[in-house]
Amino acid sequence: MALVPKMLQVLGEELAVVWSDGAESYLPLTTVRRLCPCAGCSGERDLLGRLAKPPGKPLTRESFQAVSTVPVGGYAVQIFWADGHSDGLFPYVKLREWAEHPPDLPPVSAFPLLPVR
Ligand SMILES: [Zn+2]
Repeated sequence: MALVPKMLQVLGEELAVVWSDGAESYLPLTTVRRLCPCAGCSGERDLLGRLAKPPGKPLTRESFQAVSTVPVGGYAVQIFWADGHSDGLFPYVKLREWAEHPPDLPPVSAFPLLPVR
């Protein structure tokens, strides 16, 4: 049986997930946002497999605040971020993988966050 969330909600600065196998995951939103799988964030491969990655947009504090989440097709969740971004569909298998094996990302302080308006 596919692993799906029994519960998924934003708790403060984390995405909290209770899985169908009873496990619980707490993913920092700063991590989730930077792993956004959409073409605009992660780039897109052309027919020859070359990765075209657009220049990164500057992230702001709002970039790491989730406004709402919507389940998509039973396999992923779409996250609406406070900076207006919502293109990424986050597959559940990826969320679980990131929770169990946190990706090696530079600290958020390494990013030049724009000042809060
Ligand atoms: Zn994105």
